Amino acid sequence: MTDRGRVIVNTGNGKGKTTAALGTAFRALGYGKKVCVIQFLKGKGKYGERLMAEKLANLDWFICGKGFVFTKENIEEDRRVALEGFELAKKQVESDRYDLIILDEITYLPLYNFLDVEKIVELVRNKPERLSIIMTGRDAHPRLVEIADTVTAMEPVKHAYEQGIKAQKGIEF
Ligand code: ATP
Ligand code: MG
Repeated sequence: MTDRGRVIVNTGNGKGKTTAALGTAFRALGYGKKVCVIQFLKGKGKYGERLMAEKLANLDWFICGKGFVFTKENIEEDRRVALEGFELAKKQVESDRYDLIILDEITYLPLYNFLDVEKIVELVRNKPERLSIIMTGRDAHPRLVEIADTVTAMEPVKHAYEQGIKAQKGIEF
């Protein structure tokens, strides 16, 4: 059953969850496969990977609504945007247009009680056979771990940021 799409979770507190997912996208694109990235969290501005995505015909990139940010004042707005993003994810999964879909930072939806984790389980269970799905974000819900084929928890050992070194263009964003 090597042709069945994989379900992968990249979690943990260390750096590399999103970039490992994008590394897999790079690999899939190399074989002419179609890839979709849906980002649930709002980024701070320009990200190199988004700029690159614009140049790749087989890679579609969506930021759900304008992304959500977890500010206490905007919690209802964040919930609305997150749920809108989940509807988009459902649409793209069901479209059967893609070989790989990355749901970046989706772990925060059940974590912040924006969405019942069973909705994500259902989405993954009903995916087209060939489709692989990668979910990223810290504190992956045990149910997501349970339904995944492959789960990796990035373990932080040290990070430049803790030594006061600022994020670098082309490396951290
Ligand atoms: P990356 O996008 O680099 O793979 P990530 O997806 O594992 O990181 P997130 O929690 O999504 O981690 O990180 C958001 C941003 O914070 C990214 O720019 C990332 O490089 C940076 N980052 C990740 N881990 C750490 C850390 N331990 N300390 C400081 N910054 C971090
Ligand atoms: Mg990330």
